[in-house]
Amino acid sequence: MIVQLHHPSTPETLREAEAFLLALNLKCRTVITPDSTLFVIYAGQVPDPRRIRQCPGVKDVHRISDDFKLVSGQWKQGRSTVHVGKVPFGPEAFNMIMGPCSVESEQQLEAVAQFLVSQGVRMIRGGVFKPRSSPYSFRGMGLEGLNLFRGVADQYGLSIVTEVMEVAQIDAMAPKVDVFQIGARNMQNFNLLEAVGKSGLPVLLKRSMSGTIEEFLQCAEYIYNVGNERILLCERGIRTFEGAYRNTFDVNAISYLRSRSHLPVLADPSHGVGLRRHVVDIGLGAVAAGADGLLVEIHPHPDSAVSDRDQTLYFDQAARLIEGSRQFWALRSNMAS
Ligand code: PEP
Ligand code: MN
Repeated sequence: MIVQLHHPSTPETLREAEAFLLALNLKCRTVITPDSTLFVIYAGQVPDPRRIRQCPGVKDVHRISDDFKLVSGQWKQGRSTVHVGKVPFGPEAFNMIMGPCSVESEQQLEAVAQFLVSQGVRMIRGGVFKPRSSPYSFRGMGLEGLNLFRGVADQYGLSIVTEVMEVAQIDAMAPKVDVFQIGARNMQNFNLLEAVGKSGLPVLLKRSMSGTIEEFLQCAEYIYNVGNERILLCERGIRTFEGAYRNTFDVNAISYLRSRSHLPVLADPSHGVGLRRHVVDIGLGAVAAGADGLLVEIHPHPDSAVSDRDQTLYFDQAARLIEGSRQFWALRSNMAS
């Protein structure tokens, strides 16, 4: 159950409300986000909503049968729009995030930024701390790369999405980052989820390659639960028996997540299929299935990219995907209304 208080609530009302729920022997957690003051009742007796409505400062009471509560679609009216800097993601706004797998050089970033601006794409991605299967592969330019990245992004008015791999990196990265990406391998790193949640920055949370939808949403709950509601869910392909491509993009997840959570749902067709010639098709498929945005790897010279070159798009392919996505999204929006 979620008990929603009038927001903002005074410390006095908050104390009274907490005491009221405590007196009913309910286990609950107080969650204060920039837009709401909430209590999540997560164990104990199932309380009678009529009783809970007498709680001091109460605005609304929502029964939620899902294990994940705050990210559940059972309480918010409609789907949420998450603003990332000036860029919105949600039912009224489709946006794209594009850039190299890894930040490599100023020239590379300049070329990508120029292309994005020419296409009206306002968010750039790029890893400076890279999770790699082999310790001998390129593992990113680190903070030096992030400084470079920030400089170029500012010059072109772009927002940055980049992966944070461990709690210890957060403080140094936060001033330079617009969105923290939690990569597939860290989806269930619960300490990291709480720590990025507390950073207050928006979080792009990727589904892990073996994570169920239930687990994925519980991970998002860890971020929301510490007061951060700016979460973008991202499907990036799962491991199946199929070996013909890198991962199996789970298009079901796009439609299904939208039915279970109010959060925006993004798709990463690059890691989803892992093969350049299929990325545009899979990206368009994701938009047709309801994706609120795309995360795509591009590079001025994909064949010399230091990581994920086989799935990285040339600019002309990216331009086709951008144009096609906008058309598919418009078609879908008209269908839905
Ligand atoms: C990436 O975005 O480059 C990345 C490493 O993604 P994932 O965590 O989905 O593998
Ligand atoms: Mn990559």
